[in-house]
Amino acid sequence: MQMSASDVGSTTPSPEPGRPVLFRNGLVLTMDDAHRVLPGTDVLVVGEHIAEIGVGLTAPEGALEIDASGGILMPGMIDTHRHMWQTAMRGYGADWTLTQYFVWYYLESGKLFRPEDVYAGNLLSAIEAIDAGVTTTVDWSHGLRTTQHADAAVDALQEVPGRFVLAYGNIQQGPWEWSTSPEFRDFVNRRFAGRDDMLGFQMAFDVTGDPTFPEKAAFEVARELDVPVTTHAGVWGATNDDGIRLMHENGFMTPRTVYVHAASLTNDSYHRIAATGGSVSVSTESEQSAGQGYPPTWQLCQHDIPVSLSMDTSVWWSGDLFSAMRTTLGADRSREHLEAHGRQDTVTHCRLRAEQVVEWATRGGSKALGLDGAVGSLEKGKKADIVLISNDRSPVMFPILNPYGHVAFQAQRGDVHTVVVNGRVVKHDHRLVGVDLAKARRSVEQTIEYLVGEMGEEAWIKGMNPDIPETKIQENPYTYTEWDAGSAQWKH
Ligand SMILES: [Zn+2]
Repeated sequence: MQMSASDVGSTTPSPEPGRPVLFRNGLVLTMDDAHRVLPGTDVLVVGEHIAEIGVGLTAPEGALEIDASGGILMPGMIDTHRHMWQTAMRGYGADWTLTQYFVWYYLESGKLFRPEDVYAGNLLSAIEAIDAGVTTTVDWSHGLRTTQHADAAVDALQEVPGRFVLAYGNIQQGPWEWSTSPEFRDFVNRRFAGRDDMLGFQMAFDVTGDPTFPEKAAFEVARELDVPVTTHAGVWGATNDDGIRLMHENGFMTPRTVYVHAASLTNDSYHRIAATGGSVSVSTESEQSAGQGYPPTWQLCQHDIPVSLSMDTSVWWSGDLFSAMRTTLGADRSREHLEAHGRQDTVTHCRLRAEQVVEWATRGGSKALGLDGAVGSLEKGKKADIVLISNDRSPVMFPILNPYGHVAFQAQRGDVHTVVVNGRVVKHDHRLVGVDLAKARRSVEQTIEYLVGEMGEEAWIKGMNPDIPETKIQENPYTYTEWDAGSAQWKH
């Protein structure tokens, strides 16, 4: 999809694909191994790659120069677990718990989704991701009832100029069923034969802990196809230590395995994850309100388990990693203080730093996905996935004193000025480039109209408004109602 300057709707120079891009004079968070922070530095993009990082670089012929002064240049952020198809239901489940989520999607209404509904959610979610500077997103796509649904999911991802990984799943069947079907094999052959780093592939399913380990067949398919598995592990009431133990005992825990949440596990499971080199995708905003367990970074750090961040689903939450960084710092520190207070102790120095969550939002993701050779940091020779955080109209963009703290606690998605994916400018001057938002809007409207029609207006409204349990107000010894003259006391 090409776009002209008139489409962008401003006098902004048109950042056509293929044109070199030179960011001028930014504060560069390289997120390289040394975590170099480079003030007043230029970043030059030629083709798909970062050609140079330095001071006073010469602009190649025809380069688009972008003033990054007063802004922060950082690697594109990476979300390792997002159910993109559910973005068609944006915000619907804001007051859900995990129980309502399971009932709505797994038991009742998930099976209503047609291929075009998966397409609609994916299209909107993919656009939303790049708009927020999330240049790589794992589409944890567990609504793929048929391979037509899967084709629709991939079609949407390929329409949007971001980097994606399709994590194939299907909550309407056991993983041992869908993964061994000829249709699934055919789909993988058709859509992922010439896999590249713009569209990766994983298999996504959960391990229930059934002692007969029926998921074994799906793990064997993943091994044969040589693709990683991502699994919701340590989800209160759904998956637990038994699932981890079965995976471990059967030899299916690998360095490429991504465990999502890992929030209600014992040390034994963390030891098994750490020993086999896997990583955990932490969705703090999700864990805090859905009930998988306490966001586990405080424990993962104690076990030296690599962390990446994710937003899970926009049926409840936002889709930007600023929120992930912010809530993860908050939850981790909250837990540290709480544990200390329980020991009558005081935390005088925070262990988890803003720098660490910026690392998790960038390198944490690239390492988890096996993409660290290509993206995750701003280094010469790497693929150019770059975010410029800059907003002249915002009182929050100065002063920038602590750049990591600024990214984690001050900046928001509205401050994402320019986004480059694989060398191509996909957002510039706060506007998406080469993206058909109107089409996404139409697609999602059709999906909502269809769902309301299928479910009926009443069920639709009810699904959004779960019953509120009664709050028991504690008896208060300081409230009195009546003076008893006989006993000369207040009566309760
Ligand atoms: Zn999830």
